[in-house]
Amino acid sequence: MNLEKLIGPISLEKKRGCKNDSVIGGFDRFVFNTINSIEDVTIATKLRELFENYSRLDSGARLTILNNALDFIRVHSKGEETVVSLKKQKISDLFVDVQYAKGIGPHLSKLFQKLNIKYVYDLLYYFPKNYLDLRNVKRIYELQSGEVALLRVKIRNVEERKGRVNLLIALATDGTGYITAVWFNQPYLKNIFKVDMEVYLFGKVQFSYGKWEMPSPGYEIIEKNKELLHTMRIIPVYSLTEGLSEKVLRSKMKGILDSYASHIFDYIDDAVLKRNDFIDLGKALMNIHFPESFVLLKKAKERLIFNELFELQYVLGRRKHEIAALKGYVFKTGEDDINRFRRLLPFELTNDQVKVMKELIGDFSNGHPMNRLLHGDVGSGKTVVALFAIFVTVKNNFQAAMMSPTEILALQTYKNALSIFKDTPIKIALITSSTGKKERNRILDALLNNEIHAVFGTHALLEEDVRFANLGLVVVDEQHRFGVLQRGILREKAVIPHTLVMSATPIPRTLALTLYGDLDISEIREMPKGRKPVITKVFFNDRDTAYSLVKEELDKGYKAYVVCPLIEDSEALEVQSVESLYEELKDTYFKKYKIGKLYGSMSGKEKEEVMDAFRKGEIQLLVSTTVVEVGVDVKDATVIVVEDADRFGLATLHQLRGRVGRSDLQSYCFLISSNPSMEAVERLRILEKTTNGFEVAEEDLRLRGPGEILGTRQSGLPEFKLMTLLSESNMRILEVARKEAFLLLKGESIFDREKLEELERIIERKFGWKIPLIEVA
Ligand code: ADP
Ligand code: MG
Repeated sequence: MNLEKLIGPISLEKKRGCKNDSVIGGFDRFVFNTINSIEDVTIATKLRELFENYSRLDSGARLTILNNALDFIRVHSKGEETVVSLKKQKISDLFVDVQYAKGIGPHLSKLFQKLNIKYVYDLLYYFPKNYLDLRNVKRIYELQSGEVALLRVKIRNVEERKGRVNLLIALATDGTGYITAVWFNQPYLKNIFKVDMEVYLFGKVQFSYGKWEMPSPGYEIIEKNKELLHTMRIIPVYSLTEGLSEKVLRSKMKGILDSYASHIFDYIDDAVLKRNDFIDLGKALMNIHFPESFVLLKKAKERLIFNELFELQYVLGRRKHEIAALKGYVFKTGEDDINRFRRLLPFELTNDQVKVMKELIGDFSNGHPMNRLLHGDVGSGKTVVALFAIFVTVKNNFQAAMMSPTEILALQTYKNALSIFKDTPIKIALITSSTGKKERNRILDALLNNEIHAVFGTHALLEEDVRFANLGLVVVDEQHRFGVLQRGILREKAVIPHTLVMSATPIPRTLALTLYGDLDISEIREMPKGRKPVITKVFFNDRDTAYSLVKEELDKGYKAYVVCPLIEDSEALEVQSVESLYEELKDTYFKKYKIGKLYGSMSGKEKEEVMDAFRKGEIQLLVSTTVVEVGVDVKDATVIVVEDADRFGLATLHQLRGRVGRSDLQSYCFLISSNPSMEAVERLRILEKTTNGFEVAEEDLRLRGPGEILGTRQSGLPEFKLMTLLSESNMRILEVARKEAFLLLKGESIFDREKLEELERIIERKFGWKIPLIEVA
């Protein structure tokens, strides 16, 4: 009870601005007195630690302490009976170390860590990968040999046989026949099975030598007043890790659900639930783990997907709204800037490029920060539009920063800018992780003194010591590689700079609205003049033909890429795969040609040298991993070969194909696949049919469903657990979530205060985001 006593004074202290005066005689003294009367030593110690330095801290630090203390109290007061029955469990209070949850402890929590389960929340949201319907019991007399069946039997005899393999043999009957269950090398089982015990057995049955047998069946013992968890219901099947068994995880999960999910606080307004026919949050959580029926499982998924999408839409909507309300730098600019810029270019701008430039001019002049996505297919010429934005920014005496996802790309954009700005007073620089210390310091100084006007680079630009005199524009290239949630970071380097993000992710319109809900969208649909569509061809088991066509291109003086099979998460294997393909090609097809190699873990300098050599023609054929996937621009490379193409997603293949066809030369994309499935064949054929990224995306959506697409790194949403459950059949939830989030943002749907606070706290805990996301300066 003592813990509860603290809530009032802490809240009051918060309200009064953390002045240590909410209790006469000193708030902190009151706290310490109360703590001294708490019996639980761990809780008392933890609280004492929290408040130790309270009186000596500033109000900001005090506020943090108060919030932490409130969280802590909310979680721990749950143990005290008086509260439990009345209070609903808030999800936002479940971001506590899972080892403190009932029945878990340090050993299990270590195992959980391997599954990325850190908080109680993570465990609750660790969803089954599959389900087994174990609701129907078969009788022994109706069994078919070879089938998988669930039996309810009584044990008649248990026998242990020791030998090279230890056997435990149980003879059992259900009254219609006998069956022998056999387990191998599980000696502890002899203490479990007793004669006359009733059990469920589950597994494959075999009829041999006139007898029914069941090798290594799953089992669950029937006990009075004990709920069945592993049989007689729809059983959840989870991804496991070594040392964690299916049964243990299932029982722990049930325990967690019973102690938390059964009385969870639903933070979505009742009216919203009702009009969309959604079930209650607690019920959804129970049913996604232990479905009462397949109908309820479907409803549970719908409800949980809705929550996730709703939260995302709400955050993006908030962000859009807040940015729109901010004051932004006003740049003096107009259409004559386009003409001035045009003179710097070696080619004519396309209509779409000019259209987008005009949109940027509008953004720069309207008094609010630009917050725009430039969406355009690979090779449509987005870079030059970004350089225009930088041109205008610098002309207005502001600085610009442009961030690329890879070093190769950063360097390339930098060089591109060097050549376009060479006859202007614009000074530019490049910062990546391979920039030397001295050079880096020089650039940092120059940035602070406004002697450098535009800086290009990678993630390295995000480091704290990169500061500007007056940053007015931030450009993020290939933004899908950075993730939706990282969009705001560079922006924090200046008060409120204009922001332009660029992406070639060809995702269908419906999904684009979801991911980019916070941005204004510009599109380039038109390709530069003279481009010939890349001719794409799939080769099944016919590398000879593919590579002899490549040779023809090299003989004409052009260049080629060969992309190695996809290897995820292992740099060592990746290098090995490049090396072996390189050796093979060098010794077979390309003996007389100059060939080079490129992979992600090479140093920045090495990559630069290889790319330079490739550009100059000292390398004719470049064997590479997908590091060439985004953005790389070598105009006279006319052919790209992708080995084991069926292992890549369509979006990635389309990006890879975009490495060629970047001039008026006819270019080719050869996709090699040795043993593709039917589905893979169909997928690859799509690329033969169209070179339009949006069409590729629509087909991809049709074949794989939105969940698969949103679940990949291309979407920038890896932190979303439920998106992958989205299918054609529940696609409508996307729309519903958007609609409902907007209603709430516009004040047309009303959540009571407690719900709204809970929603915002959850968002903050889940995404590490404070709302408001950008403080008004
Ligand atoms: P992406 O949109 O994929 O980033 P880039 O900006 O890299 O495309 O442009 C692809 C290639 O097209 C570059 O070599 C660029 O110089 C060239 N390019 C861009 N705009 C035009 C244009 N209007 N006419 C001709 N070539 C252009
Ligand atoms: Mg690009």
